[in-house]
Amino acid sequence: MKIQSIPVGAFEVNCWLLANQDQEAIIIDPGADAPLIENCIQKMRLDIKGYLITHGHMDHISALAALSTKYPAPIRIHPSDAIWAFSPSNQMPPYYAPPQPPPDELLKADLTESRDNEIARLRFDVLETPGHSPGSVCLYFPEENTIFTGDTILAGSAGRTDFPGGNPADMHNSLKRFLSLPPKTVICSGHGPTSTLEEEMHTNPFLQNAQQSE
Ligand SMILES: [Zn+2]
Ligand SMILES: [Zn+2]
Repeated sequence: MKIQSIPVGAFEVNCWLLANQDQEAIIIDPGADAPLIENCIQKMRLDIKGYLITHGHMDHISALAALSTKYPAPIRIHPSDAIWAFSPSNQMPPYYAPPQPPPDELLKADLTESRDNEIARLRFDVLETPGHSPGSVCLYFPEENTIFTGDTILAGSAGRTDFPGGNPADMHNSLKRFLSLPPKTVICSGHGPTSTLEEEMHTNPFLQNAQQSE
């Protein structure tokens, strides 16, 4: 699997492009800057087979409508975030207006706890990890030793829990789920640099807290 990150928008969200050997691809969190993402799609000659959304915050979905209109493919998001992701409350002026909804027929609010999902022959498990938002998920690709964590875990930190729908107790329980993953797992988060679980166990106070309360 080829993995390409593109930092987009005012909050530098990591939009991820994942491609198989035949250039079939998944897009995770097309947060903003549709033309920039499109440029990468064209340069890498990607055939987009699906969109995965780690959570509904506007900075992670604002380019979704434009891209999915141009490159139609199923869009998967957790139902608990799908209900508010495209509502007027999901905005942050002056940076983000409420995201345009993508084409109705593409949107599937079915990204719930499950194993062995497959898009473009790339296999992944969905971990429900509420806390930063009620429908936050992490996307674990076991064959690649890689997990896409959205804003649940960031290098050295964890996502805020003081936004509407956030919940510190849920976050604490969600972080515990990482303790059973292999230490060499690569953590690709929603903002900032890539890390590994091993590195985070040594440096991330939120994860250390979760471990101490095991
Ligand atoms: Zn967020
Ligand atoms: Zn974010």
